[in-house]
Amino acid sequence: MHHNRLCPCSSGNRYAACCEPIIEGAAAASAEALMRSRYSAYVLGHWNYLHTSWHPDTRPSKVSPTSTDWLGLTIIHATENTVEFIAGFRQNGNIMALHETSRFAQVDGHWHYLDGDCDVCEAGRNTPCPCGSGLKTKRCCSNAAFVSTSRHADWQAAIAVKRD
Ligand SMILES: [Zn+2]
Ligand SMILES: [Zn+2]
Repeated sequence: MHHNRLCPCSSGNRYAACCEPIIEGAAAASAEALMRSRYSAYVLGHWNYLHTSWHPDTRPSKVSPTSTDWLGLTIIHATENTVEFIAGFRQNGNIMALHETSRFAQVDGHWHYLDGDCDVCEAGRNTPCPCGSGLKTKRCCSNAAFVSTSRHADWQAAIAVKRD
């Protein structure tokens, strides 16, 4: 039922042709593809995948479910084994930006998330919205009129059905 939806990772591709095969077990072609699939897994609640795609040397004993209201992903720069990105999310009515440079390593030919340096701050009202829309935050995700049409609203509706 999710096959025709755009992928949560903001690639502009259909989920079925982007992150879904990786979440279902296909090898990610690059560290960036793995990072995108992990963002999508956070949006969609694939906690077991988040655990198994975490490097065995650094992963927690389990990845606990969260209900973060993710707004979108922007890849800033990717190398063979690092990805710098900004992910937007809403917390207590504030629009927040998670800016992280993640490191990845392969295990048996499969990319895994190793660790990362991250910084979380409130998005500036006059700076580009961390959802990646290109609009200023005050005209985008912090505008009350946009709240019901957040980027992942269609996914959130599908997830709510699945979790009931
Ligand atoms: Zn994707
Ligand atoms: Zn926005």
